Amino acid sequence: MKTSIATVSISGNLKEKLEAISAAGFDGVEIFENDFLIYDASPREVGRMVRDAGLEITLFQPFRDFEGMPEPQRGRAFDRAERKFDVMQALGTDLMLVCSNVSDVALGGIDRAAADLRELGDRAARRGLRVGYEALAWGRHISDHRDAWEIVRRADHRSVGLILDSFHTLVRGIDVATIRSIPGDRIFIVQLADAPMVAMDPLYLSRHFRSMPGEGDLPVLDFMRAVAATGYDGPLSLEIFNDQFRGGSAKLISNDGRRSLVFLADQVRRLEPGISMDVTPMPEPARANGVEFVEFVTSEEESGPLLSILKILGFRLHATHRSKQVFLYRQGGINIVVNMEREGFAYSAYLVHGSCAYAMAFKVDDAAAAVERARMLGVEVFEQAVGPGELHIPAVRTISGGVAYFVDASAGLANIWDVDFTPVPTHDDTPVETGLKRIDHVAQTMRADELPSWLLFYLSIFDMRKTPLVDIADPAGLVRSQVVESADGALRLTLNGAENRRTLAGHFIAESFGSNIQHLAFETNDIFVTAQALKVNGFSPLRVPENYYEDVEARFGLDPALSDRMREAGILYDRDDRGEYFQLYSPVLGEGFFFEIVQRADQYRGYGAPNAPFRIAAQKRHLLPEGMPHDSSSQRISATGAGLKE
Ligand code: MG
Ligand code: MG
Repeated sequence: MKTSIATVSISGNLKEKLEAISAAGFDGVEIFENDFLIYDASPREVGRMVRDAGLEITLFQPFRDFEGMPEPQRGRAFDRAERKFDVMQALGTDLMLVCSNVSDVALGGIDRAAADLRELGDRAARRGLRVGYEALAWGRHISDHRDAWEIVRRADHRSVGLILDSFHTLVRGIDVATIRSIPGDRIFIVQLADAPMVAMDPLYLSRHFRSMPGEGDLPVLDFMRAVAATGYDGPLSLEIFNDQFRGGSAKLISNDGRRSLVFLADQVRRLEPGISMDVTPMPEPARANGVEFVEFVTSEEESGPLLSILKILGFRLHATHRSKQVFLYRQGGINIVVNMEREGFAYSAYLVHGSCAYAMAFKVDDAAAAVERARMLGVEVFEQAVGPGELHIPAVRTISGGVAYFVDASAGLANIWDVDFTPVPTHDDTPVETGLKRIDHVAQTMRADELPSWLLFYLSIFDMRKTPLVDIADPAGLVRSQVVESADGALRLTLNGAENRRTLAGHFIAESFGSNIQHLAFETNDIFVTAQALKVNGFSPLRVPENYYEDVEARFGLDPALSDRMREAGILYDRDDRGEYFQLYSPVLGEGFFFEIVQRADQYRGYGAPNAPFRIAAQKRHLLPEGMPHDSSSQRISATGAGLKE
């Protein structure tokens, strides 16, 4: 499989784009005419730059408003084409994209368009060039790939072929099965893009909100399965117009793009075993069985608030590392690692972010296979020196540069806690257990423009699905929240994209310099019993305003006795068609980290999103008390101190 990406998809000048595209492992690029025009080099020099970067030019585009014109526009269009052919020959590419005419003066007519393309094909053939015809979803007369194919078929010229673009087909809801009857060798190139499912003019959606396959809501996989069925074996080329991508990191977007294509091809290979696709087989998506541990990094001086809240939550110091300043706190099936080393990767994370949860370990069926799959998806494998006799835990670097570990039930990895750690006996100081059983979900916060990258990271490595994006209202702006979860709920992640730093999520990432895990939610079987035990340990929950209980009682028709119990313990409530959800929040630590305790009754599937605005408002009152200067150093102490002593 050859991979390609349009230069328009990423940021930078042409040289920077080519470097990033090449480094991500693409085979080719579509040269978007504008990128080339604004770059100060001749077509010949640009062609050399592309080849020097180890790339080929898969396509030159776009050639607009060509077919079906009356004179004199028709003659001028052919003259224009000859000029573009000159440029293409100097660049060293043989394929031009002709997109369907959007001009008001275009006359329409399948045969007229076919005749024009046939003549263009003759002219192209004389120079050893080819033209591909693409239906734009907003074309004046041709807006459907079926009509574009009919024109190409009637043009009946070996230098004239069809260009398919998933966006144009899918945004108009055209049945992708209609692609299956097109001969693969008549398709000159396939362009791929996804987009969110929003009611919006297709042209505007296309120009601003396209995304990598898998990041949006369009059935790009179905489209690609149909393409594969035709026998098409040319490049898969990304053509993504997206405002955030064009302003984002060229390296990140290029890596995402390549990952999205490898992931898509792997899905097609698994779903269409009868179709031979030229792709390297890779391990199957990792089955996510939960979180084995979350690792915090801190220092002896700064560790007080964290250790104190862990104790209040009922975590017991269970074991200490044999050779390092690393401590295991445990309750139920939850392992919290606290790392106070003064060297290694954890310490570098501490120097950048301060005290934070910087890594987590995923339980999978086969850790080595999961890392190999990630590597084949272009994810960097993480290696760190281990001491003699200590375990090597397979790991990769995440989007933000953190670490994701993988553990499985194989010999060695199954008993990481026995190999590297020495148990600590219980003692007088051992806290009361509070009934926390397992990690229900981990909430990660990131800049909104990095949300798609994280989404693709998880969806491509693991066997997980996403649920629709939800907007959460923070008094200072919106936070976009996207859930990624395994089908059985064993691993649940909420990804929160902060648009600005005045939201709680935005404040957290700004003040922790991109730290990522913002809250851990623990599951209990009985939140009222847990709340009672927490009280004994000295826990003071986040204070929820009285208005909340009035509202929730009315909204759900709750028994006043139940809402009284919730009010007393600071518990929040939600319900869906399957069951009930109870939530209890800790105050914030540092710049916005917190713990959550949840009880899922029956089959409740959500995360209490309707409660998030109440929670955020309460946390912000706590983190940034009115009248206090927005100085982070003073707040860190005051916020934490107040939260833990109240
Ligand atoms: Mg296109
Ligand atoms: Mg939560």
